[in-house]
Amino acid sequence: MIEEAIFEEEAMESDETKKNVDKLKNEVNKLNTEIEEIQDNCKHPEYSIKNVSSDATAAIRRVCDNCKANIGYPSNDELKKNGYM
Ligand SMILES: [Zn+2]
Repeated sequence: MIEEAIFEEEAMESDETKKNVDKLKNEVNKLNTEIEEIQDNCKHPEYSIKNVSSDATAAIRRVCDNCKANIGYPSNDELKKNGYM
């Protein structure tokens, strides 16, 4: 009986975890959509050359200073100017 009660409690905790993760993932999706809408409406008036990679492999891109969108590949000239070549 005691073992059964513990098992039920663990099952409930894992339900709770699932619910929390689902809820948070939903919020992340909603926020990402909101960011995309803002970036869609931005005219990208100015941009900087930045490494947008989160791992060891560099990914140098043009990033809008205003909305932080990744708006494309820099030219060789831009790579040189920013010390990436
Ligand atoms: Zn922008």
